[in-house]
Amino acid sequence: MIRLGTRNLKRQAYVAAASFLAGSGRVEGSLRLGCRARHLATQAGNGDSPLPSREKTAQFMVNPTSIFPNAVKIVEVGPRDGLQNEKRIIDTSVKVELCNKLSRSGLSAIEATAFVSPKWVPQMSDHKDVLQQIKKFPGVDYPVLCPNLKGFEAARDAGATEVAIFAAASETFSQTNINCTVEESLERFAPILESAKESNISVRGYVSCVLGCPYEGEIDAVAVADVSKALYDLGCYEISLGDTIGIGDPGSTIRMLNEVTRVVPVEKLAGHFHDTYGQALANIVVSLQHGITVFDSAVAGLGGCPYAKGATGNVSTEDLVYMLYGLNIETGVDFEALLEAGRFISNELGKPNPNSKVAVAVENKRKAKMTVQ
Ligand SMILES: [Zn+2]
Repeated sequence: MIRLGTRNLKRQAYVAAASFLAGSGRVEGSLRLGCRARHLATQAGNGDSPLPSREKTAQFMVNPTSIFPNAVKIVEVGPRDGLQNEKRIIDTSVKVELCNKLSRSGLSAIEATAFVSPKWVPQMSDHKDVLQQIKKFPGVDYPVLCPNLKGFEAARDAGATEVAIFAAASETFSQTNINCTVEESLERFAPILESAKESNISVRGYVSCVLGCPYEGEIDAVAVADVSKALYDLGCYEISLGDTIGIGDPGSTIRMLNEVTRVVPVEKLAGHFHDTYGQALANIVVSLQHGITVFDSAVAGLGGCPYAKGATGNVSTEDLVYMLYGLNIETGVDFEALLEAGRFISNELGKPNPNSKVAVAVENKRKAKMTVQ
């Protein structure tokens, strides 16, 4: 294993990784890595950074036997999956400012809102205003959730360029959540996919309850694979596997991925882990080892599930970025800007702290330092 000792060598490693990614067709990642090489020193290595020194982690970058990818794409779902679970109606301007702060942090995909009926989710009733008022940063996608064709058409008319649809791996969850069977939900999505194709809109598919259901308990991994394949065959460019209630563990994650990757190419899959049982990061590590390179997370660990009592939010983006940084996996995210977005929304929601262990630890460390000085 080669240990990189100087910034110059680290830069070379980044350039090598960038050209590797370009060679494998992952040009977007390559561009981001190229930019990254220029401001490496600003993220870590100086005394004030909350991130560990690159000296300790750079060895992964040039280790040809590394089981981890060089780069990961994070899909930030806090403004939708997170805020939809907040009871108090949040001002549109706060939602817009949150999305803008997240865009500034370098995230390349931010799920901005949901085009659902205000009767179902009053918090998302300002979806059109949110989508139209957020600043669209170049290179950033702003998908919106659509439960049906009506929602899709409203999203399209409001200027959406990417939408997300969702089906459950559990019959009972499907009935309770969207009032139809899994099969019926898939039938309803077909016209959305057709229409999206005509309008050049990308469609992402979610599968909920992949590791457990609040009503049925354990979910058969084969059922997860079947729904994932159906969404993929319908034309979804990516399938996000959602542990909606956060009950999974690394063992169940591996068993589920073994089945799903039999029928959907691993590069078309994403992981979406809620952290109810504190297993989300561990589940992400085993997913990385399985070849998954896209993960959903929510700034400040926002969220829960209205249909699953006690379920907590998604893994926090702060915790995810910190862990990936430690593995020397590039995310393109400016950590300080991300922390700021998490502090902002936690304050707006009247929460004393972000629901992120890393964010709280960094804050406490800084406070302690100030007291000593
Ligand atoms: Zn979720």
